[in-house]
Amino acid sequence: MLSISQQPVSQVIEDDFLARAGVTLWIRREDLIHPTVSGNKWRKLKYNLEEMNRLNKETVLTFGGAFSNHIFATAAAAREVGVRSVGVIRGERVLPLNPTLAFAERAGMQLKFIDREAYRQKDNPEFLKELLKEFGDCYLLPEGGTNALAVKGCREIVSGLENGYDMICCPVGTGGTMAGIVEEVENKCQVIGFSALKGNFITALVQSLIDPKNENWCVVEDYHLGGYAKFNQELIDFIIQFKSTSGIQLDPIYTGKMLFGIFDMVRKGQIADKSILAVHTGGLQGIAGFEQRYRVKIS
Ligand SMILES: *Cc1c(COP(=O)(O)O)cnc(C)c1O
Repeated sequence: MLSISQQPVSQVIEDDFLARAGVTLWIRREDLIHPTVSGNKWRKLKYNLEEMNRLNKETVLTFGGAFSNHIFATAAAAREVGVRSVGVIRGERVLPLNPTLAFAERAGMQLKFIDREAYRQKDNPEFLKELLKEFGDCYLLPEGGTNALAVKGCREIVSGLENGYDMICCPVGTGGTMAGIVEEVENKCQVIGFSALKGNFITALVQSLIDPKNENWCVVEDYHLGGYAKFNQELIDFIIQFKSTSGIQLDPIYTGKMLFGIFDMVRKGQIADKSILAVHTGGLQGIAGFEQRYRVKIS
């Protein structure tokens, strides 16, 4: 079983600006629960690895981009529980490998690079059949690791916390994390997801993963800053500022945009007089590659 190195804690953010708006902000430190299988990726992998063990599968095969937190986490988790892993990566092998892929390979993950066009087939049964021919009888995990067992694992991020806050916030990529949180809190408090992707399909994505009786949630689509992994100087400044006042490192793809969004909504009066729990979903492994690629410093 996947180990947990620290039970998550909630940490309050002392901030005059928030206090003036009547907002109490807590950060759920999921980023600290494991040194390499961080945050929501740990939650998403937990029951999948158990299922894999039950099915006696020796290899997990999954998909991701070249900087993927999910690829990094799956490689580390597979090594820890003693199974083989294959990562199907979008794009060409570029040497030297970036820090994410270098880590995955060191952890024993076999990397298969496919071009962007082929990658679009990643959910096509025929394409998956070909992959299984190549790599044997694998346990398949979709991109981002989102499936029903991942949603089940993500419920545990907030179990027992639903009555303590007016609002729970999380970042959204493939929607599995938010779906788990929404299912667990069952309308007892509002759940707000901050989309890291551009496009109005995200709400439908979350909707497809939850029971429709859960209605007290929404996805905010105003803080992706142009799209997945797009950023601006304001976000960089915010992440640096947040770290210097709170001591908490945010990532630029997910948690940075969520907290940037929360502060902006408070500034605009869209959030006031509320007690908020924002889930730090991890993702800090991506910072090294991000800094290298864009020549910026956020850590
Ligand atoms: C993958 C990831 C997300 C997105 O989770 P989904 O379940 O795909 O929506 C959010 N935050 C971090 C840090 C991630 O790595």
